[in-house]
Amino acid sequence: KNCSSPDSRLVVLGYPAVGKSALVVRFLTGRFIWEYDPTLEAAYRHHTMVDDEVAVMDILDTAGQGDGPVREGLARWGEGFLLVFSVTDRASFSFLQPLHAALATARTTPNFPCVVVANKTDLGHITSVSEAEAVSLAGELGASLFFTSASDGGPSIQAAFTELHRDVVRRRWTR
Ligand code: GDP
Ligand code: MG
Repeated sequence: KNCSSPDSRLVVLGYPAVGKSALVVRFLTGRFIWEYDPTLEAAYRHHTMVDDEVAVMDILDTAGQGDGPVREGLARWGEGFLLVFSVTDRASFSFLQPLHAALATARTTPNFPCVVVANKTDLGHITSVSEAEAVSLAGELGASLFFTSASDGGPSIQAAFTELHRDVVRRRWTR
């Protein structure tokens, strides 16, 4: 396998403090890092097995775009996008629709691989986004939906990255 080019380039996006870094670190290491520098943008190369094959993913954990514009370079570099919100933060949920629209504009296509990740499900007692709303948004964006907790872990985190990776690889071959 060519070590300079990954099988997929995945970008993790969303409102600040929704748990993007915690999800990436959990996916890569199996651990929960409670405090991760919120200003740090980090890129990782991850080797794993997907469907009995070696898969190489480049993962970009973004930081700090808040409600600012999506950077065009990032929208083009990425092939698949994890759109993360926190179930405890309504603003982070409302942010995803315009974020998706901005990505579509930058990529000049409304249709690109993305998944919606509803994080912090362990904080169910302070949930401010209903499951039905999340399902509806994901449907609108044509994305699969995953309920996750970076602090609890569990298979849905890996499922989200893996599903996105599959979608990127699948569409490359059918292009
Ligand atoms: P980012 O800005 O989106 O990268 O968010 P971080 O990964 O830095 O997480 C922001 C805060 O939320 C940190 O204090 C994390 O410990 C916390 N956090 C992240 N994911 C979860 C989760 O699933 N459950 C809980 N309870 N806290 C989380
Ligand atoms: Mg972060």
